[in-house]
Amino acid sequence: MKTVIVGGVAGGMSAATRLRRLDESMEIVVFERGSYVSFANCGLPYYVGGVISSRDSLLLQTPESLASRFALDVRVQHEVTSIDPARKIVHVTDLRTNTAHEEPYDFVVLAGGAVASRGETTSTMPSYTLRNVDDVDHITETLASIDGHVHAVVVGGGFIGLEAVENLIGRGVGVTLVQRGPHILSPLDREMAAPVLAILRQHGVDVRTGTTVASASDGFALLSDGSRVRVDLVIEASGVRPEVSLARSAGLTIGQSGGIAVDRRQRTSDPAIFAVGDGAEKIDAIDASPTLVTMAGLANRHGRAAADAIAGQPELAWPALGTSIVGVFELTIAMVGWSEKRLVAAGRPHRVIHTHPASHAGYYPGAETMALKLLVNPCDDSILGAQIVGGAGVDKRIDVIATAMAGGLTASSLADLELAYAPQYGSAKDAVNMAGYVADNLATGMTRSVQWHELDSALEHGATLVDVRTPGEFAAGSIPGAVNLPLDDLRLRHTELDDRPLVVHCQVGQRGHTATRLLTQLGHDVKNLDGGYKTWVAGMATLDREPELILA
Ligand code: FAD
Repeated sequence: MKTVIVGGVAGGMSAATRLRRLDESMEIVVFERGSYVSFANCGLPYYVGGVISSRDSLLLQTPESLASRFALDVRVQHEVTSIDPARKIVHVTDLRTNTAHEEPYDFVVLAGGAVASRGETTSTMPSYTLRNVDDVDHITETLASIDGHVHAVVVGGGFIGLEAVENLIGRGVGVTLVQRGPHILSPLDREMAAPVLAILRQHGVDVRTGTTVASASDGFALLSDGSRVRVDLVIEASGVRPEVSLARSAGLTIGQSGGIAVDRRQRTSDPAIFAVGDGAEKIDAIDASPTLVTMAGLANRHGRAAADAIAGQPELAWPALGTSIVGVFELTIAMVGWSEKRLVAAGRPHRVIHTHPASHAGYYPGAETMALKLLVNPCDDSILGAQIVGGAGVDKRIDVIATAMAGGLTASSLADLELAYAPQYGSAKDAVNMAGYVADNLATGMTRSVQWHELDSALEHGATLVDVRTPGEFAAGSIPGAVNLPLDDLRLRHTELDDRPLVVHCQVGQRGHTATRLLTQLGHDVKNLDGGYKTWVAGMATLDREPELILA
């Protein structure tokens, strides 16, 4: 039996090596269009920035190493140009000699990845995507060839664009980041993206949101807002689309998401052909709909699943949660599941929780605050998504929540997770436990909350806003119209409040919760401003241009 694998990086090489471990007798041929296999795409931006100093360390395997350890027949600079499912052959061109041949197969694994979407920029300046080793060679050569200060325009404020920005700044390059959408990192909700914008600006990045690049020539880029910025180099990172051209021409079903449709064994509409990685459709873990998630973990896992299916193993691929993480200077930004804006757009009921826990015990030096947002299904308390932005400890909290989601735990039961604690690592009530407590309080009706974007409406409908922070905190910055009544005075002074509904708030929501409980028991109608002043400030900072598009 013979398996032909198209694409020799994340998904393709996982399929090839797993298949070899399962079946020593299988003939396995891997065709890779580029010059390298099994290279570290995720490390490419860090090579541009010099964080990874050795180019060789990006090249994890070679055709020779794969032949000796796994008996794989890996052919680089070979492009599969078409598949003939009826004859069970693929057509291959050797790009070095421009000669074509036919390769018979019993099974094919399509692992051709994604294609970078080129924006509408017409550029006569050096302009590159950041997808493979050739790209970073071009980028680093261009940077090295320019005397004096270099200015780059990065198009696209997604994961790869932000990694490019950070690494260019690290090399001393000036950067203008141009993002079409209203905020950076569009999968995040707006108030969670606000700190990302702030950190980029702190590091001197010229960020233009709601803007596109019309053209780049003669050392200047013309932006859609009419401004001109200096440019020596354009990095195109405006997104990707699944590589489906082979699948389409072979008559395979392309799913509604635009990726190759597969079942839970990664099998396409032709039972002898499998598809994995960025080119293949995923099943969304929240609503079982077809979706696209272009992350390395899924490509590897689904490569393995395809090999299992070819070797007759019974395992099924798991649906995709979309767990992801990116570092932007001192910030770590991580997310899993659905965002609030996606839930709003889909009309799905949801409950929102914002907290601002510390990375570890506050009394132990070096604790950092993170912003944590949890999205919960109010009907069954299931976790629909989470976003975390901060420094230390963001990575572990998102992984705990992703694991809880995969295991079907409810939001309230996050409170009961027994997580490792010593002061330098966490808190006795960990950030994840705290989110669970808030979820439980909301689920049981122990407390009620108002979101930052609902506050104006609550006040217009007659609520009184009570700031329960200290007078010092109040003086340092407060929400217009708030009355300052510190938490520790509330028991005695609550009679100063009339019987109108109250919205209370503190800095991050925790003292607000205590105030809510106290005032409720004293007979008031009270809601807590979720996430407190901090979340309100972050949210309001995003409203400078489109207040009506709060969640757009
Ligand atoms: P790829 O790994 O892209 O491999 C596809 C290969 O198929 C390519 O080498 C291509 O040349 C080859 N090919 C295509 N068509 C043909 C053909 N017809 N014939 C022969 N060969 C063909 N994900 C994360 O989870 N975390 C990260 O931090 C992260 N960082 C990233 C940073 C960068 C700069 C990039 C580009 C991606 C990053 N990703 C990250 C995404 C991750 O790399 C991809 O999700 C993953 O590599 C997809 O695997 P794949 O096998 O589908 O495609």
